[in-house]
Amino acid sequence: MPMFEYAPAPESRSILNIRESYGLFIDGEFTAAADGRVFKTISPATEEVLAEVAEAGSADVDRAVRAARRAYESLWSVLPGRERAKYLFRIARLIQEKARELAVLESLDNGKPIRESRDVDIPLVAAHFFYYAGWADKLEYAGYGPQPKPLGVAGQVIPWNFPMLMLAWKIAPALACGNTVVLKPAETTPLTALAFAEICQQADLPPGVVNIVTGAGETGRAVAGHPDVDKVAFTGSTEVGKLIARSVAVAAPKKKLTLELGGKAANIVFEDAPIDQAVEGIVNGIFFNQGHVCCAGSRLMVQESACDDVLAALRRRLATLRLGDPLDKNTDVGAINSAAQLQKIRDLSELGEAEGAQRWSPPCELPARGFWFPPTIFTGVSQAHRIAREEIFGPVLSVLTFRTPAEAVEKANNTPYGLSAGVWTDKGSLILWMASRLRAGVVWANTFNRFDPASPFGGYKESGYGREGGRHGLGAYLDA
Ligand code: NDP
Repeated sequence: MPMFEYAPAPESRSILNIRESYGLFIDGEFTAAADGRVFKTISPATEEVLAEVAEAGSADVDRAVRAARRAYESLWSVLPGRERAKYLFRIARLIQEKARELAVLESLDNGKPIRESRDVDIPLVAAHFFYYAGWADKLEYAGYGPQPKPLGVAGQVIPWNFPMLMLAWKIAPALACGNTVVLKPAETTPLTALAFAEICQQADLPPGVVNIVTGAGETGRAVAGHPDVDKVAFTGSTEVGKLIARSVAVAAPKKKLTLELGGKAANIVFEDAPIDQAVEGIVNGIFFNQGHVCCAGSRLMVQESACDDVLAALRRRLATLRLGDPLDKNTDVGAINSAAQLQKIRDLSELGEAEGAQRWSPPCELPARGFWFPPTIFTGVSQAHRIAREEIFGPVLSVLTFRTPAEAVEKANNTPYGLSAGVWTDKGSLILWMASRLRAGVVWANTFNRFDPASPFGGYKESGYGREGGRHGLGAYLDA
């Protein structure tokens, strides 16, 4: 039992003015879908309907692509980089000015704790626009030749786990390089993308440079498959990533494609690691954003000699996590994003038990309404268990053990994914030895889930290809 209870500290919603309904953002204006279709977006913490949103069909996507093409040819691709930079800087400043509003909106629509949207997501969104604004007039020094050219119209499809941050990862480098975009946010989290469309209007961004088409998987398919899209950028499941890769390869092999897909990262703790610090890193690795993180440290690998101590400290720490209202500033673990995702987490967790692993959660009261899952640890997990192999994308940690560094590397790499990994040890030489052998795009040393716009991010194997962020992220949007 905690020694004392925290008084509720809810962030006010009064700063928001959510409209009853939203249109598609095409050619600088909000418009209804051609066939008038709409869908509802809800708060996953309460199941309350937040707004009605237009559902784009293929005719709407076509209209958006045509607007993007016009803007690309008549203006954006020929505008000097320093002029494009001014728009991006203006957008970045507007995001900072509206940071509180955007954080509340993100937490409402997504279910993530306000502490995370306020302190991580939205500051990183602004940082991405600032960072790429700085590149817009320096592209000839980025290592892509003396006169790098944009690709054209980018079709971008993003998931629901970091709705506005994924938008920033996609839109900021694309615009900095002189491309125009048609972006589809996830069906369950469209609201911050629509707030971003309003920011584009306020920044006087020329019509057609950014178009936002809301909808579900079919809309995403229409964006990725549109014949006049020159570049497709997708973040989401490996399954849909494969479908997109296949359709691009068959129908339009000249289209450029970057994919950022799933992961099953190993977070590796050696016996000489500072345990309290490592426990914070383990918690941040898998319970940050309810584990809805492609690079989440979902496989904890602890050196056998330290396992009992690490697990005891981890259990003590989990008992202090507060789960509940995402808008409460004390909340550590928010709501699962959708009923479908909750079902997937439940199914895989039940399977873990059926396969013989031991399940543990701290005592934790779940709210009556909304979609919730307690922080969960599985011990006695073997490499063959599905919970050790498949992306659960929820607050569920599988614990495995190892004896030697070589065994840790072998187990860590025994996955079709390769997005990230973490290493916890006192020895710098061991960190370097491990990092050079781990097949993962990012290896964190004595930390986890750290992001910076200057640092490239991306995967090996089934985690996708292409890099986002940093100088490398420019390469995905330049004809080099
Ligand atoms: P999806 O891959 O289905 O969704 C990602 C985006 O692609 C969404 O905008 C989605 O639209 C859209 N989409 C869906 N089908 C197509 C298609 N055929 N062509 C083009 N775009 C499409 O992921 P889910 O949201 O269904 O999540 C399923 C699982 O994927 C999760 O349980 C998790 O394991 C993994 N995942 C991994 C992510 C990562 O970053 N690695 C992010 C999200 C999910 P819509 O949302 O409207 O369906």
